Amino acid sequence: MEDCIFCRIVRGEIPSDKVYEDDRVLAFRDINPQAPQHVLVIPKRHIASLNDAGAEDAEILGHLQLVIPEVARRLGIAGSGYRVVVNTGPDAQQTVFHIHYHVLGGRQLQWPPG
Ligand code: 5GP
Ligand code: ZN
Repeated sequence: MEDCIFCRIVRGEIPSDKVYEDDRVLAFRDINPQAPQHVLVIPKRHIASLNDAGAEDAEILGHLQLVIPEVARRLGIAGSGYRVVVNTGPDAQQTVFHIHYHVLGGRQLQWPPG
């Protein structure tokens, strides 16, 4: 059993504000939102980062990405638009090593990002 903050959220040991859940994927609101809508979408199975994903993870990560538009619809931002970010490694300032897809929206986002 992984001693990882997002694994603990999956197990319900840490509460979270869920917006979507199925047997393989969980989406919940970021505790420190960077936009009016900011949700993290994670596989329930522990994968540390994109760098640690392998061929065996293709199906779960494909499924996760297909869930994102449904999450966006539930947040009311599917039409207005949103950004999907997967911070990976030090330069991207990844802080939690359980892969997570940030879904950000509800305001005009800037490009390039900081
Ligand atoms: P990273 O910097 O690794 O891409 O993103 C980690 C994200 O997880 C941050 O945006 C941070 O606010 C969020 N986060 C960290 N701990 C918790 C938590 O316990 N609950 C929730 N909902 N979000 C968390
Ligand atoms: Zn984990």
